[in-house]
Amino acid sequence: MPKVLVVDDSATIRRIVKNTLERIGYTDVVEAENGIDALTKLKEGDISLVLTDWNMPEMDGITLVKSIRASDKFGTVPVIMVTTEAEKNEVMEALQLGVNDYIVKPFTPDILKEKIEKVMNG
Ligand SMILES: [Mg+2]
Repeated sequence: MPKVLVVDDSATIRRIVKNTLERIGYTDVVEAENGIDALTKLKEGDISLVLTDWNMPEMDGITLVKSIRASDKFGTVPVIMVTTEAEKNEVMEALQLGVNDYIVKPFTPDILKEKIEKVMNG
């Protein structure tokens, strides 16, 4: 079972994403509240997929993506960005920086499942 890292400064959003992941069979979920916290969790190892918010204090999602892609240790981990409608025009930048895919809030379990399967199975 792949371990999924959910990064969002909102505990409510993290809970929604975590519950959705559990519903589709991903029960091994680690949470982080910003990019710095996420990098700490990634350094601990064993993360197979990152779902990250864009806007967060301390370190935002786009800086996190740059840090992940620059890492020797976990540079290839798949990343899905969870954005709001307003951030949609910034998604091209995120994709150019190495985000594998993105999900626009609010999303359904089916959408999340589809995106995860696409990213995890190539
Ligand atoms: Mg946020």
